[in-house]
Amino acid sequence: MALLIQRPNGTEDVIPKNIYKWHTIEKVAREVAEKYGFKEIRIPTFENTNLFLRSVGETTDVVQKEMYTVIAKESKFTLRPEGTAGAVRLVMQNGLLNEPMPQRLYYILPCFRHERPQAGRLREFHQFGLEMIGSKSPIADAEVISLAKNFIDRLGLKNIALYINSIGCPTCRAKYHEALKDFFEKDKENLCETCLSRLDKNPMRILDCKSTVCSEISSNAPLIIDYLCEDCSDHFEKLKGYLNAMNIEFTVNPKIVRGLDYYTKTVFEFITTDIGAQGTICGGGRYDGLIEQLGGATTPALGFAMGIERLILTMESQGCEFIEPKKCDLYLAPMGENALHRILTIAHGLREEGYWVEYDVVGRSLKAQMKYADKINAFFTMVLGDNELDSNKAMLKNMSTGEQTEITLDENFYYNFSNIAIAGMFRESLEL
Ligand code: ATP
Ligand code: MG
Repeated sequence: MALLIQRPNGTEDVIPKNIYKWHTIEKVAREVAEKYGFKEIRIPTFENTNLFLRSVGETTDVVQKEMYTVIAKESKFTLRPEGTAGAVRLVMQNGLLNEPMPQRLYYILPCFRHERPQAGRLREFHQFGLEMIGSKSPIADAEVISLAKNFIDRLGLKNIALYINSIGCPTCRAKYHEALKDFFEKDKENLCETCLSRLDKNPMRILDCKSTVCSEISSNAPLIIDYLCEDCSDHFEKLKGYLNAMNIEFTVNPKIVRGLDYYTKTVFEFITTDIGAQGTICGGGRYDGLIEQLGGATTPALGFAMGIERLILTMESQGCEFIEPKKCDLYLAPMGENALHRILTIAHGLREEGYWVEYDVVGRSLKAQMKYADKINAFFTMVLGDNELDSNKAMLKNMSTGEQTEITLDENFYYNFSNIAIAGMFRESLEL
């Protein structure tokens, strides 16, 4: 039978067999973020469209080409293309700017961009991101970068290069924009239509254009790093010093400008060459002007976001280890109604103790139940029939070794099961 309606292009399903990969990333993300004092936030999936126009920027690819916007009644909403705008709105709307600074926040959430789907580039993708709000010091930049690095290391990823750059502040950018305008003016007739319209409004965006002609022209453009004011240049030098002190290897790439308008000063990317063209697994930077732009008091801040699908692709291609999925501890097979009643109590008790317990809910034969237990890879099975009920004793079968251990069905059952289970699992771990 053909499926009448398939999932939309550029979206992915995660089936139970693969969920442990997601759990690994999410678990390590939470652990690492919390170790550095970051707290989790949740924000709505959609926001008022204006939030993204004001923050991400009207001349960016994201806003001009990639947003999913719906008009609902009289309001315009957009599915979040990234997390920073919503996170900053949350901070402002909930009075977090009055709490002790810096605010350290993290999130794990889906984002939506209308892009051309390909390996590592989806229309719905997921980010692990974080924001540190309320410090203008370069030590905050180093702290956020070292967190990202620590997370990448904890996942077991290798060969991930860190590139950093500074894209200055409005002061240095004014001069730089003039230089860029002069530069692009000469090749004006070759620029794509979008970039032509960016020339006056925001020439830096041309540097981020994906069209081959525009990127060709951009390759010789003046570099922002040569236009930094003293404050920005000092900030960048200090950051490099801190990264060196932390033994974090990096390369300065003066061509990184990032695709979102809110960035100032430090920008950075972690890149792998192991998963093809979409190798940026993490992008981040400072956005000292954003909160003011959204109507708040001037508040320096920075953050990063990692693409979870790209992290998983990289881990798979590098053969990194994921946290092993759990398996069923005990499969109970009753023979007859009396045994079934007894099994319901045993299953409940063991589940209260934290064990994964299953029994037949389909009405299968004993043979079919055993086949099922084998398929789900149950650690132990226990068959319970009238004999076992009479003698109050049953056999616990270790499914990987075939070994059988007698167990008494009395008040010590849970304690005895724990001992047998721990011994069995310990032996299995030694054999591995
Ligand atoms: P790219 O240069 O690959 O388009 P970007 O600069 O647009 O990335 P950011 O806005 O910085 O990406 O988002 C942070 C991270 O989110 C990226 O580094 C990437 O890992 C991930 N990401 C961004 N867009 C997508 C997408 N369409 N599909 C999957 N992951 C994505
Ligand atoms: Mg992009």
